[in-house]
Amino acid sequence: MPKLKKETIEALNQVMSLVESMLDMYQPGYGKKARLILNFIIDQGGIVPEEIIGKKLDLKSNEIRKILQILAEQGIISFRRVASRDKSRQGWYIDTENIESIFINRLKKALEKLKIRREYEMQPGMYYCPVDHLRFTFEEALENDFICPRCGSILEEYDGALAVKFLDKKISEIEEFLKSIGAL
Ligand SMILES: [Zn+2]
Repeated sequence: MPKLKKETIEALNQVMSLVESMLDMYQPGYGKKARLILNFIIDQGGIVPEEIIGKKLDLKSNEIRKILQILAEQGIISFRRVASRDKSRQGWYIDTENIESIFINRLKKALEKLKIRREYEMQPGMYYCPVDHLRFTFEEALENDFICPRCGSILEEYDGALAVKFLDKKISEIEEFLKSIGAL
Protein backbone atom coordinates (compact mmCIF):
# COMPACT_ATOMS: atom_id res chain seq x y z
CA MET A 1 0.00 0.00 0.00
CA PRO A 2 1.47 3.41 -0.95
CA LYS A 3 2.34 6.03 1.64
CA LEU A 4 -0.44 8.47 2.42
CA LYS A 5 -0.47 11.72 0.49
CA LYS A 6 -0.01 15.00 2.34
CA GLU A 7 -3.58 16.04 1.46
CA THR A 8 -4.92 12.81 2.88
CA ILE A 9 -3.09 13.26 6.17
CA GLU A 10 -4.42 16.83 6.34
CA ALA A 11 -7.95 15.54 5.66
CA LEU A 12 -7.41 12.83 8.24
CA ASN A 13 -6.39 15.38 10.89
CA GLN A 14 -9.47 17.48 10.19
CA VAL A 15 -11.78 14.51 10.41
CA MET A 16 -10.03 13.18 13.51
CA SER A 17 -10.49 16.37 15.51
CA LEU A 18 -14.24 15.90 15.06
CA VAL A 19 -14.12 12.21 15.82
CA GLU A 20 -11.91 12.76 18.88
CA SER A 21 -14.50 14.82 20.70
CA MET A 22 -17.15 12.28 19.78
CA LEU A 23 -14.99 9.48 21.20
CA ASP A 24 -14.42 11.45 24.39
CA MET A 25 -18.16 11.75 24.85
CA TYR A 26 -18.39 8.00 24.51
CA GLN A 27 -15.65 7.49 27.09
CA PRO A 28 -13.29 10.19 28.41
CA GLY A 29 -9.76 9.63 27.10
CA TYR A 30 -10.83 7.61 24.06
CA GLY A 31 -10.10 10.52 21.72
CA LYS A 32 -6.41 10.57 22.57
CA LYS A 33 -6.18 6.79 22.42
CA ALA A 34 -7.87 6.78 19.02
CA ARG A 35 -5.23 9.21 17.78
CA LEU A 36 -2.48 6.86 19.01
CA ILE A 37 -4.06 3.89 17.27
CA LEU A 38 -4.59 5.82 14.07
CA ASN A 39 -1.04 7.18 14.01
CA PHE A 40 0.23 3.67 14.55
CA ILE A 41 -1.77 2.38 11.59
CA ILE A 42 -0.49 5.29 9.46
CA ASP A 43 3.15 4.58 10.45
CA GLN A 44 2.77 0.91 9.66
CA GLY A 45 1.49 2.00 6.25
CA GLY A 46 -0.75 -0.83 5.23
CA ILE A 47 -2.96 -3.46 6.71
CA VAL A 48 -2.36 -3.78 10.41
CA PRO A 49 -3.64 -6.76 12.39
CA GLU A 50 -5.43 -6.00 15.64
CA GLU A 51 -3.00 -8.16 17.69
CA ILE A 52 -0.06 -6.02 16.55
CA ILE A 53 -1.82 -2.86 17.67
CA GLY A 54 -2.41 -4.54 21.03
CA LYS A 55 1.22 -5.60 21.34
CA LYS A 56 2.72 -2.23 20.42
CA LEU A 57 0.41 0.12 22.24
CA ASP A 58 -0.16 0.08 25.96
CA LEU A 59 -3.94 -0.18 25.75
CA LYS A 60 -6.43 -2.79 26.84
CA SER A 61 -7.58 -5.08 24.06
CA ASN A 62 -11.29 -4.44 24.69
CA GLU A 63 -10.57 -0.70 24.50
CA ILE A 64 -8.70 -1.12 21.24
CA ARG A 65 -11.53 -3.17 19.78
CA LYS A 66 -14.15 -0.62 20.77
CA ILE A 67 -12.14 2.32 19.40
CA LEU A 68 -11.42 0.48 16.14
CA GLN A 69 -15.14 -0.21 15.80
CA ILE A 70 -16.03 3.45 16.27
CA LEU A 71 -13.36 4.57 13.79
CA ALA A 72 -14.73 2.06 11.30
CA GLU A 73 -18.30 3.26 11.84
CA GLN A 74 -17.05 6.76 11.04
CA GLY A 75 -15.55 5.51 7.79
CA ILE A 76 -11.98 6.34 8.78
CA ILE A 77 -10.64 2.81 8.80
CA SER A 78 -11.81 -0.40 7.21
CA PHE A 79 -11.20 -4.04 7.84
CA ARG A 80 -9.77 -6.18 5.12
CA ARG A 81 -8.96 -9.80 4.71
CA VAL A 82 -6.14 -10.38 2.26
CA ALA A 83 -5.29 -13.77 0.91
CA SER A 84 -1.55 -14.11 0.44
CA ARG A 85 0.47 -17.08 -0.78
CA ASP A 86 1.32 -18.56 2.58
CA LYS A 87 -1.42 -17.40 4.89
CA SER A 88 -4.39 -15.15 4.88
CA ARG A 89 -3.67 -11.86 6.57
CA GLN A 90 -6.32 -9.58 7.90
CA GLY A 91 -6.38 -6.26 9.61
CA TRP A 92 -7.25 -2.62 9.66
CA TYR A 93 -6.22 0.03 7.17
CA ILE A 94 -6.85 3.71 6.58
CA ASP A 95 -9.76 4.19 4.24
CA THR A 96 -8.11 6.90 2.15
CA GLU A 97 -10.92 7.49 -0.34
CA ASN A 98 -13.55 7.62 2.34
CA ILE A 99 -11.59 10.12 4.41
CA GLU A 100 -11.20 12.44 1.46
CA SER A 101 -14.92 12.34 0.75
CA ILE A 102 -15.78 12.98 4.41
CA PHE A 103 -13.41 15.95 4.34
CA ILE A 104 -14.81 17.31 1.07
CA ASN A 105 -18.37 17.04 2.38
CA ARG A 106 -17.36 18.88 5.50
CA LEU A 107 -15.83 21.70 3.46
CA LYS A 108 -18.94 21.90 1.27
CA LYS A 109 -21.13 22.22 4.36
CA ALA A 110 -18.85 24.94 5.75
CA LEU A 111 -19.13 26.73 2.41
CA GLU A 112 -22.95 26.66 2.58
CA LYS A 113 -22.88 28.06 6.11
CA LEU A 114 -20.53 30.87 5.11
CA LYS A 115 -22.81 31.79 2.20
CA ILE A 116 -25.86 31.89 4.49
CA ARG A 117 -23.89 34.07 6.89
CA ARG A 118 -22.94 36.33 3.99
CA GLU A 119 -26.61 36.79 3.04
CA TYR A 120 -27.33 37.71 6.63
CA GLU A 121 -24.50 40.26 6.74
CA MET A 122 -25.70 41.78 3.45
CA GLN A 123 -29.16 42.65 4.81
CA PRO A 124 -29.62 46.42 4.59
CA GLY A 125 -30.82 48.60 7.44
CA MET A 126 -29.57 46.44 10.30
CA TYR A 127 -28.92 47.94 13.72
CA TYR A 128 -26.76 46.67 16.57
CA CYS A 129 -25.95 47.34 20.20
CA PRO A 130 -22.32 48.49 20.53
CA VAL A 131 -22.13 47.03 24.05
CA ASP A 132 -23.38 43.47 23.74
CA HIS A 133 -23.51 43.19 19.94
CA LEU A 134 -27.14 42.16 19.67
CA ARG A 135 -28.49 42.65 16.14
CA PHE A 136 -31.85 44.13 15.15
CA THR A 137 -33.75 44.60 11.94
CA PHE A 138 -35.00 48.10 11.26
CA GLU A 139 -38.50 47.13 12.48
CA GLU A 140 -37.13 45.65 15.70
CA ALA A 141 -34.97 48.72 16.31
CA LEU A 142 -37.96 50.96 15.73
CA GLU A 143 -40.12 48.94 18.14
CA ASN A 144 -37.46 49.46 20.80
CA ASP A 145 -37.09 53.18 20.05
CA PHE A 146 -33.51 52.43 18.92
CA ILE A 147 -32.54 51.47 22.46
CA CYS A 148 -31.08 48.08 23.33
CA PRO A 149 -33.73 46.15 25.30
CA ARG A 150 -30.98 44.35 27.21
CA CYS A 151 -28.64 47.11 28.35
CA GLY A 152 -30.28 50.39 27.35
CA SER A 153 -27.52 51.57 24.99
CA ILE A 154 -28.42 53.54 21.90
CA LEU A 155 -28.49 51.30 18.84
CA GLU A 156 -26.21 52.08 15.93
CA GLU A 157 -26.53 51.33 12.27
CA TYR A 158 -24.76 48.12 11.38
CA ASP A 159 -22.28 48.03 8.53
CA GLY A 160 -21.63 44.47 7.37
CA ALA A 161 -19.00 45.44 4.79
CA LEU A 162 -16.02 44.23 6.82
CA ALA A 163 -17.69 40.95 7.70
CA VAL A 164 -18.68 40.43 4.06
CA LYS A 165 -15.12 41.09 2.94
CA PHE A 166 -13.84 38.50 5.41
CA LEU A 167 -16.50 35.98 4.39
CA ASP A 168 -15.79 36.51 0.69
CA LYS A 169 -12.14 35.73 1.29
CA LYS A 170 -12.97 32.51 3.18
CA ILE A 171 -15.54 31.48 0.58
CA SER A 172 -13.16 31.93 -2.33
CA GLU A 173 -10.36 30.09 -0.49
CA ILE A 174 -12.57 27.05 0.03
CA GLU A 175 -14.00 27.22 -3.49
CA GLU A 176 -10.54 27.42 -5.01
CA PHE A 177 -9.34 24.47 -2.96
CA LEU A 178 -12.38 22.39 -3.94
CA LYS A 179 -11.89 23.33 -7.61
CA SER A 180 -8.19 22.44 -7.44
CA ILE A 181 -9.03 18.89 -6.37
CA GLY A 182 -11.90 18.65 -8.87
CA ALA A 183 -14.60 18.56 -6.22
CA LEU A 184 -16.48 21.65 -7.39
ZN1 LIG B 1 -27.13 46.23 24.60
